[in-house]
Amino acid sequence: MPAALVCFRDDLRLSDNPALSDALNEGMDIVPLFTWYAAEQCGEAPTGAARWWLHNALEDLDEALRERGSHMAFMKGPALDCILRAAKKSKARDVYWNRRDSPALARLDDKLEEQLREAGLRVHTSESANLHSAEALLHKGRHYRVFRPYYEAARKTSVRKSCSNAPNKLNASPFAGDGPVDTLGLSTHLNWTAGIRKTWAATRAGMELLLNELPLVVRDYDLWRDIPYRRATSRLSPYLRFGQISACELLQRVHSQCEQCPGMDAFVRQLYWREFARHILHYNPALPEKAMDERFDNICWREDPELLARWQEGRTGFPIVDAGMRQLWQTGWMHNRVRMIAGSFLVKDLLMDWRKGAAWFMNTLVDADTANNSYGWQWVAGCGADAAPYFRVFNPVTQSRKFDPDGHYIRRFVPELANMPNKWIHAPWEAPLQELREAEVELGKDYPLPMLDHSKARERALAAYKSAKTENNLHV
Ligand SMILES: Cc1cc2nc3c(=O)[nH]c(=O)nc-3n(C[C@H](O)[C@H](O)[C@H](O)COP(=O)(O)OP(=O)(O)OC[C@H]3O[C@@H](n4cnc5c(N)ncnc54)[C@H](O)[C@@H]3O)c2cc1C
Repeated sequence: MPAALVCFRDDLRLSDNPALSDALNEGMDIVPLFTWYAAEQCGEAPTGAARWWLHNALEDLDEALRERGSHMAFMKGPALDCILRAAKKSKARDVYWNRRDSPALARLDDKLEEQLREAGLRVHTSESANLHSAEALLHKGRHYRVFRPYYEAARKTSVRKSCSNAPNKLNASPFAGDGPVDTLGLSTHLNWTAGIRKTWAATRAGMELLLNELPLVVRDYDLWRDIPYRRATSRLSPYLRFGQISACELLQRVHSQCEQCPGMDAFVRQLYWREFARHILHYNPALPEKAMDERFDNICWREDPELLARWQEGRTGFPIVDAGMRQLWQTGWMHNRVRMIAGSFLVKDLLMDWRKGAAWFMNTLVDADTANNSYGWQWVAGCGADAAPYFRVFNPVTQSRKFDPDGHYIRRFVPELANMPNKWIHAPWEAPLQELREAEVELGKDYPLPMLDHSKARERALAAYKSAKTENNLHV
């Protein structure tokens, strides 16, 4: 049978993988291939925790291929060189891949496709990352900027059908590649993954455990998803990020396993937020660098590495913010509600550039994803599509009292405050000295004093945002 290269990228799975099933349906012997060249990732190469994830997900995919009689060929170097070399060695004339939807990577792929065609190869590409193509959801020829009408239109549009189960058996691949996954050098530089390793298995088995819990999660999703100490969200984000499960397959599983669950609509809606962020990035390639509402690129952000480090390390003196930042550092993940609170604290309270927060998240999150992260940060900063209005400034104490009323989440990640009574744990600086003594907390020694006064910081942020808006109006 003729051989065909199947290039895996952000789609590290064997089921619902259109590139793989197209090649198999054409009767090809497939040569699974993963090439890696950080310089060729347009600044979107996974770093830090996500790179650790990628390494492990690749190892697991190789194992899945081996269980079926094949293996992954890993190659390090520019994609064009690797693919040409792999095609020559395996006598393949056809190359299959699923299109990536980040605009920068899609452009790179278009160029690669052209070069491969010029070199005499046939390139076959498919859509796989999203529920819908971005082009399928336009309103009067323009993309949606507001979620609600987008969502209403999307729910009426048919979703790409999840295409196939994983093949049971594959013919042996004729091409070994350059060596095992370690050849790529993905995980060697990490020195802080102990907690991440304890929390996550970046494998099919790890994902199946979470998928088995899905009906329970979805049942009460609407009720508990904002409560960070509960395991009330799916935690599937890193598996979605690396395409270990497709959004279509997940949606199908939700529909079939959770149909009677009261929280199903709320959960499905979140999958559409992911989709919305991807479509926004598709039409706004500068999303990671430029505010969609350009007026807010005039803000005079503060530059202070020491303050930034206190936020990054969870030493702000605001327990809910510190708990979130420590959860991130220790586990490579942070609950969505706390991402909003900690993000708002950096941008509004500390008046620091949202891009600094986005960069830290990209390095520390296992689910680091250009679309969701840039969209999330612009939402928090009030400068994105359908963002929180700029004058909405999260009060970290009010948020903490509302979403972690008994302080369980804080106690877990800020153990210095474990003995603080519920009444004072959200704002320990307000506690009477006697309460602090009984909880064995000396502020400034065991736990930091708050690094700022929230109401003053709020006023400063509002003034800065207002002036950026006015300044811009003057320029027009
Ligand atoms: C500042 C900020 C940065 C963020 N950065 C990322 C990121 O880098 N990668 C990432 O995957 N998500 C990001 N999010 C979105 C969200 O926080 C995570 O997707 C969610 O917490 C993942 O947990 P889960 O899988 O348990 O989600 P669930 O609640 O179980 O939701 C299921 C899936 O829906 C999607 N989803 C849920 N909430 C959102 C949302 N608000 N926006 C977009 N998609 C959503 C995710 O793919 C998620 O896995 C960010 C949010 C904020 C506010």
